[in-house]
Amino acid sequence: MAVTASVPNRPVVRVPVVEFGAPDASAPMRLSVLGATGSIGKSTLDLVGRAPDRFEIVALTAQSNARELAVLARRHRARLAVIGDDAQLAELRDGLAGTGIRAAAGLEALIEAALMPADCVMAAIVGAAGLRPTFAAASCGARIALANKECLVSAGHVFTAEIARSGAELLPVDSEHSAAFQALSGADPKAIEKIVLTASGGPFRTWAREALEAATPEQALKHPNWSMGAKVTIDSATLMNKGLELIEAFHLFPVPAEALDCVIHPQSIVHCLVSYVDGSVLAQMASPDMRTPIAVALAWPKRMAAPTEKLDLARLGSLTFEAPDEVRFPALGVARAALRRGDTAPAVLNAANEVAVKAFLDRRLKFLDIAALVEATIEEAERQGAICQAHGLDDILHIDGLARRLAVEKLNGY
Ligand code: NAD
Ligand code: MG
Repeated sequence: MAVTASVPNRPVVRVPVVEFGAPDASAPMRLSVLGATGSIGKSTLDLVGRAPDRFEIVALTAQSNARELAVLARRHRARLAVIGDDAQLAELRDGLAGTGIRAAAGLEALIEAALMPADCVMAAIVGAAGLRPTFAAASCGARIALANKECLVSAGHVFTAEIARSGAELLPVDSEHSAAFQALSGADPKAIEKIVLTASGGPFRTWAREALEAATPEQALKHPNWSMGAKVTIDSATLMNKGLELIEAFHLFPVPAEALDCVIHPQSIVHCLVSYVDGSVLAQMASPDMRTPIAVALAWPKRMAAPTEKLDLARLGSLTFEAPDEVRFPALGVARAALRRGDTAPAVLNAANEVAVKAFLDRRLKFLDIAALVEATIEEAERQGAICQAHGLDDILHIDGLARRLAVEKLNGY
């Protein structure tokens, strides 16, 4: 039965014309993208390219692909393009010759890019390398669209304090956190019972432990649903990604660690479920395409169109859920323990994981040893008194460096 047909005089409710969330919606949103050549960076610029009049690109940055950065800076008429690797500055300058776009290189220039006046900064550098530039962006009070989850994992309390101090607006880009943000909108914290993040389970979801022993980087890089950078793809295969995301959620949402959980959902359609005390569960669904959560963060509280595949639940037929297996995927338990331990334990977890993932990709570490190396590094850091309270970004970076050295030393034992 068509409900509207039975209520003939009901006024037609019209959805307002889609507009952007910039302070003055008639002016273009000034946007900088840190990590512009990465998976999230390019998805962001894909959305920008579809609505060029609505955005003004301020700065674009990348670490090592000067040629690609120059192409993006030209296409989107950026004011500044920064390459992290100084050795590539000449190539970047060549690529931008005659455009009037300023080129710069090195960490200080990355920070300068983050500090340029903008309405929104997409923080999409991968790993702890994103900490300084993302902190710089946060210090200006602009909207931070946060993809760099490592920032909240390593420096959660310090980062959220900086956001509060500067009055910046923090919007999650990670799909599960974007989903939680949408399902939580306006909720009284006391009414929230649980936040459950979904995980696809990665390429090894159904693999036996013996098979995981021999898993190769090529196999781990074949994610069944998402197309992402190498680091987060490996983190998805180990389930460390979900562990990092539980820590990320802890800093984003007003619930205790015990109220955070995860469930395996192989189709990656439901991204998060929020349970309320009255028994209601609000879930957010979308095709597994990061352009949806990116669009949410750019346009919030309004909505903007994204060219993602529309959901057809009848065609999908079924959505399934299962509990994660922490025996085959021990990284999840290691991350939960770091969240419970608190202080700098998550910073050590993150740094050791970055070392372990790189060693796995370089074939110096077996897949199942990723979690073992991270756990052993946290234990060693605890023995050395390095799991302690951090008072600022410098403390976090010091512990990050120490944890990397400890993890590299431990690598020799594997
Ligand atoms: P990616 O590897 O595809 O891209 C990373 C970007 O960061 C590139 O532009 C690269 O040049 C830049 N970069 C790398 N090292 C750098 C350094 N030392 N200094 C400065 N810049 C550096 O990564 P990605 O998949 O786009 O992920 C970016 C962030 O978003 C990560 O924190 C990841 O966890 C998070 N994230 C990604 C996805 C996804 O679908 N890709 C989903 C959720 C969250
Ligand atoms: Mg995610």
